[in-house]
Amino acid sequence: MNVFPHYPWRARRESDASFSESMESDELERRRNAMIQEIVADTKSLRHLTELANLDPRVVAAMRTVPRHLFVSDTMCGSAYINHALPIGCGQTISQPFIVALMSSLLELDASDRVLEIGTGSGYQAAILAEIAESVYSIEVVEELALEARQRLRELNYKNIFIRVGDGYDGWPEHAPYDAIIVTAAAEAAPTPLIQQLDTGGCLVIPLGTSGYTQWLTVITKNSDGRTASRSVLPVAFVPFKH
Ligand code: SAH
Repeated sequence: MNVFPHYPWRARRESDASFSESMESDELERRRNAMIQEIVADTKSLRHLTELANLDPRVVAAMRTVPRHLFVSDTMCGSAYINHALPIGCGQTISQPFIVALMSSLLELDASDRVLEIGTGSGYQAAILAEIAESVYSIEVVEELALEARQRLRELNYKNIFIRVGDGYDGWPEHAPYDAIIVTAAAEAAPTPLIQQLDTGGCLVIPLGTSGYTQWLTVITKNSDGRTASRSVLPVAFVPFKH
């Protein structure tokens, strides 16, 4: 019986417990390690495009720590450590682990950084960032996903992630400026308010392009004089930015 009708996630957690029980923690760790090996190999084979020789070691450490199997539904649990995007409901996806690792590394985070994320989804990317940075402000346009992610991250005891429901186009001006901004849905152009809310010396990572066509993961930096520079990093496939 579903005793938490408003939080399908909570009902699923009971099944997750049986998944975790049937799956020994050393098997979960083995799968996580295999996933890390694969994304480290992907990073090396794509370095001619990304100009990133190695993943940020703190990102790798975070991906060893965060239990990705608790960010997907029970039916997806067995696939949680495969290097693929997976459905999370409402027509949305949790990003491929390699893409999470790449985007997080491109942000060049410091421990004191405040990060803005647009597109909370499952909350997995936010958790990875929160392992490294001081605080993560994340906006999700689909209320159901935002509520589930908030609940999940609370249960996992993250105290430095703040989630808001809404259109992330306008950013979250109350907490600006941000040292880093990450957008996890593909937009045709970087929203102007996000550029404005990026601190000087900061970095915005965003997939640019139309859904169904080639999108490019793009890094936009803001120089000390306030001017921006952008670099296309890798062709990618993200769900569309809704605006
Ligand atoms: N970072 C997520 C990936 C989510 S997929 C994770 O780790 O699971 C992209 C998300 O962006 C979807 O949940 C989608 O609903 C959300 N999204 C799309 N357009 C948005 C907008 N304008 N503002 C906020 N969220 C948006």
